[in-house]
Amino acid sequence: MLPKQYRLTRQRRAILEEIAKVTSHPTADEVYKMVRRRLPRISLGTVYRNLEVLSETGAIQKLAPGGSHMRFDANCHAHYHIRCVRCGRVDDVPVAPLPDIEQSLRKQTNYEVLGHSVEFLGVCPECKADNG
Ligand code: ZN
Ligand code: MN
Repeated sequence: MLPKQYRLTRQRRAILEEIAKVTSHPTADEVYKMVRRRLPRISLGTVYRNLEVLSETGAIQKLAPGGSHMRFDANCHAHYHIRCVRCGRVDDVPVAPLPDIEQSLRKQTNYEVLGHSVEFLGVCPECKADNG
């Protein structure tokens, strides 16, 4: 949820709602295309800025899958992802996050562990089918 000091402007609300509609983890460009259907005059820069603000406030999750374009996820519960190494598609995986791993790291290192993310790598069903 958004802290009160951040106004949920009409643009920001539209961006948040569009991301929440899909499970495809859209890139900023893809979010822009989705939001433009509702707000035809919105600029790419505005979308980028609002994606930053929404990530900072924790309303959305920013994913940086293996060095490629940033992707965005409105599902902020801890969950893991799988990325197709051929087309870059990112999906959620039905695997529960490991509950004790952060606690165990806290004990074994001097780090203050803030969280963790896991990205599995694979070839998605479509790319697999393309290959025959
Ligand atoms: Zn693929
Ligand atoms: Mn996700």
